[in-house]
Amino acid sequence: MHLPCNGRCCAVGVGKEILRSVQAVPERIEATGMPKRQRSGFVCREFRLGSTCLQIHCRFSASRPWLPFPDSVTGCAVAQWLRDTAFALVRRFGTCQLSRVLDALQRRRTGRSIRGEKMRYHTPSCFEDASAIAAAATGVTRFLAGGTDVLVQLRSDLVTPDDLIDIKQIAGVRDITRRDDGGWRIGAAVSGAELAEHEALIAEWPGVVEALELIGSTQIQARCTLTGNLCNGSPAADSVPAMIAAGATVSVVGPEGAREIAVEDVPAGPGMTSLRLGEVVSAVNLPPRGEGGGDAYLRFIPRTEMDIAVVGAGVSLSREGETVTAARVALGAVAPTVLLVEEAGAALTGSTLDDTALAELARAAEAACRPISDKRGTVEFRTHVAGVLARRAARIAYDRAGA
Ligand SMILES: Cc1cc2nc3c(=O)[nH]c(=O)nc-3n(C[C@H](O)[C@H](O)[C@H](O)COP(=O)(O)OP(=O)(O)OC[C@H]3O[C@@H](n4cnc5c(N)ncnc54)[C@H](O)[C@@H]3O)c2cc1C
Repeated sequence: MHLPCNGRCCAVGVGKEILRSVQAVPERIEATGMPKRQRSGFVCREFRLGSTCLQIHCRFSASRPWLPFPDSVTGCAVAQWLRDTAFALVRRFGTCQLSRVLDALQRRRTGRSIRGEKMRYHTPSCFEDASAIAAAATGVTRFLAGGTDVLVQLRSDLVTPDDLIDIKQIAGVRDITRRDDGGWRIGAAVSGAELAEHEALIAEWPGVVEALELIGSTQIQARCTLTGNLCNGSPAADSVPAMIAAGATVSVVGPEGAREIAVEDVPAGPGMTSLRLGEVVSAVNLPPRGEGGGDAYLRFIPRTEMDIAVVGAGVSLSREGETVTAARVALGAVAPTVLLVEEAGAALTGSTLDDTALAELARAAEAACRPISDKRGTVEFRTHVAGVLARRAARIAYDRAGA
């Protein structure tokens, strides 16, 4: 049986323990039921081995080549089949999640990847070189900004890069500079702590700064970056709704030159971005704030800190007198990617942030939500909280704009 898949195709072992047990037990593994189309856009098929469940995922796309997707796998061939699949995926698409697990096991045993290579650590001195290294790489590649996602993933065997490209030796990468248009350019390795000390930036974009400041602990603040938070591709990334609400863009350097992309166009799904092969973000750009502008970011977490947003809401608006003249609203953790909710911004524009406008804002925010239910919150809870947080963040942004 075959399913179509695109370049993001991957096979997922539920964990390395499971793969170990799969390798040890010579049984036939039958697929349980038919492939299921998931909300994320992936097609998933489950195979059971005793109490172990192995899920194979691939992303559905009619325009891409076909990937073998068997009905069952037999006996001792199981481990070999898993390996072959991983090899095939790595050869074909550069990466797959099953390969990362096999990679981790192989590296533990031999110090080399499943393709027989050691990890290469690069310290390019310009973004063009960083891009060229990434473009030429054939295995798993990661850029290293603060490393608070990458190093954790590496240490827990979630990612085992063949090429790790540290961007921190590049000149200007930790600079915050005023742009010619009056906006800001924030280098790709500027940390949360550095941003939080920049008074002029805080005065203009307090919402963006407070969103990055929410991340982790003091230690994490010393490293975490806006760029890494965005490029890690988490739908719950805290600074991303704030950046989207602010109308931020990223400067990108790639094999075909430089370009500027709106932040909302970067996330492409959980753990995925729209960046092309070899593209590296050199900076985050914030537009000129102008008179009468304010922004805010709020998140809901079950704990008081050090937690992943169950819902996040960023609002940026401008006002003339009492009237809102423009507004942007973005929501995090309520869909596979952070959402720009244009209807929510439109609900505020032209209003004086009266109850009717706030109710309309909440309704638009709730309507945009496509969350999952998990142990952190149900669909209904997340949807409701999105409306509540959007209203509260709008109120704060409005007051800041009038201050
Ligand atoms: C204890 C702890 C608490 C945390 N709390 C939070 C939290 O509350 N909220 C939250 O949102 N996150 C949290 N995080 C996650 C993490 O700190 C953030 O996502 C952080 O902003 C990542 O930035 P970084 O510079 O460290 O990214 P890195 O780890 O360096 O990189 C992350 C990803 O971005 C890619 N990347 C990095 N630089 C570039 C570039 N220039 N161009 C293209 N791609 C690039 C990398 O390849 C990688 O895939 C936490 C992490 C830890 C360990």
